[in-house]
Amino acid sequence: MTSPVWHPFTQHGLAEPIPLVTHAEGAALHTADGRRVVDAISSWWVTTHGHRHPRISAAIAEQAARLDQIIFAGWTHEPAERLARGLRRIMPETLAYVFFSDSGSTSVEVALKMALGYWANRNEPRHRILVLEHSYHGDTIGAMSVGARGVFNAPYAPLLFDVGVIPFPHGDGQATLDALEAAAQDHPAAFIVEPLILGAGGMLTYPPRLLAEMRAVCERHGVLFIADEVMTGWGRTGTLLACEQAGVTPDLLCLSKGLTGGSLPLAVTMATEPIYDAHLSTDRARMFFHSSSYTANPIACAAAVANLEVWRDEPVLDRVADLACRQRERLDGLATLPGVRNPRALGTIAAVDLEDAQGGYLSDLAPRLLARFRDADLLLRPLGNTVYVMPPYCIDDADLDRIYAAIGEAAEDIAR
Ligand SMILES: *Cc1c(COP(=O)(O)O)cnc(C)c1O
Repeated sequence: MTSPVWHPFTQHGLAEPIPLVTHAEGAALHTADGRRVVDAISSWWVTTHGHRHPRISAAIAEQAARLDQIIFAGWTHEPAERLARGLRRIMPETLAYVFFSDSGSTSVEVALKMALGYWANRNEPRHRILVLEHSYHGDTIGAMSVGARGVFNAPYAPLLFDVGVIPFPHGDGQATLDALEAAAQDHPAAFIVEPLILGAGGMLTYPPRLLAEMRAVCERHGVLFIADEVMTGWGRTGTLLACEQAGVTPDLLCLSKGLTGGSLPLAVTMATEPIYDAHLSTDRARMFFHSSSYTANPIACAAAVANLEVWRDEPVLDRVADLACRQRERLDGLATLPGVRNPRALGTIAAVDLEDAQGGYLSDLAPRLLARFRDADLLLRPLGNTVYVMPPYCIDDADLDRIYAAIGEAAEDIAR
């Protein structure tokens, strides 16, 4: 019998093989047919330290034996309290409040609703959201609305709300800053950005100076600045947050993916005092109307608390710097090959574009590459003709060599 499972971002009509994974360890996945697969994209950007970090796994087991789940509206528990206090200690000081949800997409929905609620409760209703071209913020309707439009969301386009699109920065980025300055005049509610690197948009990077200048424009015009650090947070770009590299503090910060070290689904939206205060009242109509059944699930919170302990007790940023260096060497080698374009790296993320006459996400290059990498026992998932590597921080040289050798061979075959 064929499986009744309907997979995400999978065209079942193509009947491509779907490997069955039985266990994982460090940077490796093990399949039912006995293969050891290198997880070169951190299981879609979530695994930071490595799979099954012992401290995080132990915290999950311990918490599961104590308290599994509890309503979070009007109730609380120790893992959530400890996590919120821990986040306050390491995140920018002005982000004084922590709101829990379950995924990156929901953390974005929450940020958007908080921004709109802030303006509504101040009796200065504002609804327009500004976004950066090529952005990705998740797959729920609101998150799709603030992300790039394309083949992924065409069927839903009529339901997506209108946003102001600020061109992605090229060169000195002046056109971007001018467009943002102009759009900010119309009293938008907020500007949402992926700091320093746009992930799903193709690992597109821009310099910290521009992030700082975009933040400054928003500050000048009283436009709330939302940093979506769902991918970039937790060391991915070389620092705990990408925003740090620009000296930027957002009004709202979205975190998920690496929040639990990649072990369990959990997200937070952190907000400044003014945003919290705008909802603070004896009037129930002004409370923040958002919840999901598993908000701040205790087991997921315990995993995140353990992740914070790993950050506190282990040299995570040294590992990140070392990995960045080891990837850079290999990327430099790759860059000399024919057909390899735009080599770029930021922290633990490295990407190249492979020359492809057709271009675009649905060109047949991506599936061909995917199959090729799968046959080489590598989990790599090109974005169109962009091949990127974003491994767990524990990956060793031998596994990195395998990844880069396979990308190099693919580039040479394609160029031939
Ligand atoms: C992955 C991602 C999201 C969505 O997170 P999910 O947990 O998949 O819903 C949002 N924003 C960015 C920048 C992401 O990379």
